[in-house]
Amino acid sequence: MPGRLKRTADQNASDVLVVGAGMAGLIAAVEAKAAGATVLVIDKLKSMAEEKVRPILPGGPGNDTARAGGGGIARFENTASVEEMLQKHMDQSWGRADPAIVRAYLERVAADCRWLRDDLKLPYNKRNRTVGLGPGLARFLVREAARRGVPMRFETKALKLLTDDAGKVVGVQARGAEGKVDYRAGSVVLATGGFQGNQEMLVKYVGPEIAYGTTLTGCPTNTGDGHLMAMALGAQMINLSACHIRTMDAINAWGPSREIENIYPRGIYLNMECQRFLDEGTADSDMIANAIVLQPGHKAMLIFDETARAAFPEEWKRYQDKEKTILHARSLDDLAAKIGVDAFYFGHAVSSFNNAVAEGRAHLLPVPKTKFAVKIEDPPYYAFYPVLPGLNHPLGGLKINPQCQILDMDNQPIPGLYGAGTIVNWAFGMPFKLGNATSYKGSYHAAMSSGLAAALTFGRIAGHEAAAEAAKKSAVGSS
Ligand SMILES: Cc1cc2nc3c(=O)[nH]c(=O)nc-3n(C[C@H](O)[C@H](O)[C@H](O)COP(=O)(O)OP(=O)(O)OC[C@H]3O[C@@H](n4cnc5c(N)ncnc54)[C@H](O)[C@@H]3O)c2cc1C
Repeated sequence: MPGRLKRTADQNASDVLVVGAGMAGLIAAVEAKAAGATVLVIDKLKSMAEEKVRPILPGGPGNDTARAGGGGIARFENTASVEEMLQKHMDQSWGRADPAIVRAYLERVAADCRWLRDDLKLPYNKRNRTVGLGPGLARFLVREAARRGVPMRFETKALKLLTDDAGKVVGVQARGAEGKVDYRAGSVVLATGGFQGNQEMLVKYVGPEIAYGTTLTGCPTNTGDGHLMAMALGAQMINLSACHIRTMDAINAWGPSREIENIYPRGIYLNMECQRFLDEGTADSDMIANAIVLQPGHKAMLIFDETARAAFPEEWKRYQDKEKTILHARSLDDLAAKIGVDAFYFGHAVSSFNNAVAEGRAHLLPVPKTKFAVKIEDPPYYAFYPVLPGLNHPLGGLKINPQCQILDMDNQPIPGLYGAGTIVNWAFGMPFKLGNATSYKGSYHAAMSSGLAAALTFGRIAGHEAAAEAAKKSAVGSS
């Protein structure tokens, strides 16, 4: 157990100060506490234990943890060797992911998920999502941190990092109910999420297409505060062009690629000019969403028929509010009228695709369909409309080393400063051309990946390392 800063009457001093009470911050806090440190967590929002949040839905309160679908942290066993999975990450990231970071993640993510299940006793539902999905997870984490003796100050916004004469981070200035307060700490963990709520940063780092062509499903209150505070001390940002974008419906922000995942590849995606724009058989949710960003009106329709629908009755049954999100009609003309597009171009798009399938040349179309190329010919016909690109959060962020120390432009750790969660970069992806269509490929969904799992693993590392650094400082200070 590391040595500790002496507990004083000063309730604003701690060994480890964690900024941000999402998955990454609260896991870091629990871990630092377990390592023997005194810990304080601050967050600019109200406690998620008190907020009524619906997962995924755009708008309303909630940090990204509370908005999450609650999947991705049941990765209890590795799906392949670490070397194989690492290679997959490097391939899918165009060689740009940091292999040391990805390795640190892959080597421990399964054990960390088991720790969450077996030690912290996080409950899972039948589909291996957390009970209560993201909101359930967020409530669980706040309760668990409190139960372990971690004090939390909500509605307390970090404004800037405090440093000593040597440039070491020694705390944070924040504004809360008592006005501006300096919180002193042996080390600081920044876990303030992404910058999806900061339009200036989105345009600057990710580009106007994504900034203006998406619907924001991530929390708008994650405004890159931690990034800006760290950059003010010279921190390095990397791999900034990619975001986690996924397809969604306009009502609940669920989407075809996740919820009717076997039906959608058997359909075709059309843009509002009734043109196909990507290979539906191979594209996943992120690829499709990135492609939709670049289509007219930033929306699309997914067309399929009764044969495709009837083949997967469970998926169909499960899809919520489908009467509002999936139109149907006995004829293509009637379906076009319901969508509000020109019936001639709509019918032509479907029949020319069907002809290519009949001639066995769907894979040779200018926009090929290389898998699940089946005719759309069995009424009623269905249109999942509109399919929108939902922006969850950026993937690029602060550069860290495998100890979760935030690095400066010379790749040197900024003393006393750690990062975990969406604020740090660990995955990479970028748009690419496939025929005449722009699509997307990235490492966010390579082996064993998930945003929550990354927040878990890097949160644990950051909490542990921050506690160790605070203890070292304390030992030096008291000698
Ligand atoms: C709609 C949606 C669905 C998702 N679904 C999944 C899923 O099913 N599975 C999965 O693995 N991942 C999913 N993700 C990703 C996952 O939610 C994130 O990777 C994860 O929650 C990131 O956690 P975090 O702690 O970094 O950020 P957050 O949970 O957003 O926490 C950051 C916290 O920092 C606080 N903060 C910000 N600035 C300040 C400041 N200046 N001072 C004090 N506090 C501050 C914020 O208020 C916030 O509470 C989803 C994301 C979204 C948006």
